[in-house]
Amino acid sequence: MPDAILEERKGSIARKDGPGAGAAPVSCGKASVSGAVSQRACVFCGARVVLNPITDAFHLIHGPIGCASYTWDIRGSLASESELFRNSYSTDLTERDVVFGGLERLRAAVREIHLTHAPKLLFIYSTCLVGIIGDDVDSVCREAESLYGMRVINVKAPGFAGHKAMGYRLACEAIMKVISRRPAGSDRSPIPMAINVLGDYNLAGEAWIIENYFREMGVRVLTTFTGDSTYEKLMGSARASLNVVQCAGSMAYLARSMEETFGIPWVRVSFFGLADTANSLTKVADLLGDDGARQRAAALCQREIASASAGIEPYLPLLRGKKAAIFVGGGFKAISLMRQFRELGMGTVLVGTQTGTAEDYEVIEALSDPGTVILDDANPSELEAFMREKGADVLVGGVKERPLAFKLGVAFCDHNHERKAPLAGFSGAVNFTREINLSINSPVWGALRQRASLFDALPGQAGPAGPA
Ligand code: SF4
Repeated sequence: MPDAILEERKGSIARKDGPGAGAAPVSCGKASVSGAVSQRACVFCGARVVLNPITDAFHLIHGPIGCASYTWDIRGSLASESELFRNSYSTDLTERDVVFGGLERLRAAVREIHLTHAPKLLFIYSTCLVGIIGDDVDSVCREAESLYGMRVINVKAPGFAGHKAMGYRLACEAIMKVISRRPAGSDRSPIPMAINVLGDYNLAGEAWIIENYFREMGVRVLTTFTGDSTYEKLMGSARASLNVVQCAGSMAYLARSMEETFGIPWVRVSFFGLADTANSLTKVADLLGDDGARQRAAALCQREIASASAGIEPYLPLLRGKKAAIFVGGGFKAISLMRQFRELGMGTVLVGTQTGTAEDYEVIEALSDPGTVILDDANPSELEAFMREKGADVLVGGVKERPLAFKLGVAFCDHNHERKAPLAGFSGAVNFTREINLSINSPVWGALRQRASLFDALPGQAGPAGPA
């Protein structure tokens, strides 16, 4: 292990075919090690990233202003109707509220929201400070529901209560509270050939791409959780015949809850990479048991794979043999990315997640080449040490990993909240390949190496960090 690794972190890091291989590869799902500067987000952030893309909901952050600004418009989710969700409202708690309580500010904020926007759905996020001072937010929610006739849900998400995955679960519980209160007398019968897509946040319009595939297959998407969803769409979701779960890390809990409450079966899928996308569409057609959908899925996959392969093919000689490092939020995406890099003739030398499960890490280990570093809940020092050791050519991650890659002179691909080009589906696989090539083969890395070596040649000068 490199010197940069803290003793308490060693159980969360493994090498394929290294010591301990064959058992569960890494310890995961635990609280972050104090002082390790985890890349993981807090509980509140986990809850907000899941709920934020509900486009006509109002998101009120009960806490200091920093919590609200940290998560303002946190995803690049696109919307077809309301843009209300792009706002970030805060009760802006200060020292005075710590002493005297923040309920009056909260009541005033809820009243103002009703008067100015009259939303049907309001989420109040109780952050760290509220967890400490103990404001009775539930009472304000009840009061506001009876006074203003809107749904008001308290998302009790103090950041210190666990880690990001707990926030996912709290968000799923909040959604269940909303969709379980169906109007008396409403039609509850399942709609044949109708599904929900869970764990797609419509980043760069990806949910629309997937919905178009299903439409062509003759399958209707009732609700996407939560990309481009609305209160009305959420309320119609309980009549689906199948729940299709893309990001299982954030939405498996909701899928299980909907199965228990509404009897909707669910299946895991992935729409990243050609093979995973084709397998997922075929699987959904099979589960719906409709021959027409099966035939249409087969034709769609054949056509789209041929078209996407032609788009990818010119890049293959430029990427073959390159080495990728992956550090993303959930296990499903890491697994799909490993497969995608293999399709491109690239190897994965490092793979890690913020919230992967033991089951995810077993699949990751099985897919890994010998020597691959597998790590859970990494920090920048670990990523730097292993990327240097393994000579990674590109890092796939999110906004928090980007500066690290650039400082190391390593190419970067944003596969997280802020991505601008859709990376899901068949067309997304072409965009992904193009983006990886643009970054890996950019002339900027050569210029950076040259500059680093010039600095190193000067007596007494430490040059900017260059690639290993
Ligand atoms: S850790 Fe606490 S204070 Fe920081 S953003 Fe999360 S909820 Fe707010």
